[in-house]
Amino acid sequence: MPIFEFRCRNCDKPFEKLVRGSSTEVLCPACGSNAVDKLVSAPMAPGRSKALIAAARSQAKKEGHFSNYSAAERARIK
Ligand SMILES: [Zn+2]
Repeated sequence: MPIFEFRCRNCDKPFEKLVRGSSTEVLCPACGSNAVDKLVSAPMAPGRSKALIAAARSQAKKEGHFSNYSAAERARIK
């Protein structure tokens, strides 16, 4: 289930909320207002793991082994 970031238009407080469906009404936890804006933000976990994979790959490249790479990528590097 996705967690979205919102910001309340009434009290300007940002908050995160688990949203189960598009019809779910999101209320500000601070003031109870439903005048909230959904913030567009990249999901944390996939972004982080992508960075980790990139780091692992650049390390592997330095060490000269290509087991982390797909065949297509190996061809590109060599
Ligand atoms: Zn509020």
